[in-house]
Amino acid sequence: MAQALDPAVYQDAVASLQARAATAGFRIACVAGISVGGCAEAIGTERRGAFRRRAHAHNRPPDPPYGWICCLSRRPERLVTPGGRASALLAHEYAHLLAPSSGHGERWRRAIAAIGFPAQANRRRR
Ligand SMILES: [Zn+2]
Ligand SMILES: [Zn+2]
Repeated sequence: MAQALDPAVYQDAVASLQARAATAGFRIACVAGISVGGCAEAIGTERRGAFRRRAHAHNRPPDPPYGWICCLSRRPERLVTPGGRASALLAHEYAHLLAPSSGHGERWRRAIAAIGFPAQANRRRR
């Protein structure tokens, strides 16, 4: 069942991703919320919503829970390390908010590198 994660769990991690993005010249993207255990669309229901991967970001304004990051796992530590830092998975999805509608293209690769995970940009390069 999908649940909204308490912002206290992720706000520092997200703030640090936002600071890195701003330093690199990106327009900061807000995180409207983080859903764990399913898609934000399914919060308050018995469903977990549509999932093709272990996480996704709603990065297009017409997409109803715009700005949400959704994680299939219910464990918050998939997203935020015990030290309060963003995991590679959270950074991956946040980069999708910074580079909407670009898939894992050039804009997304610049974003993920700028927020501190350059190895992911290289891995995604064909
Ligand atoms: Zn979702
Ligand atoms: Zn992705």
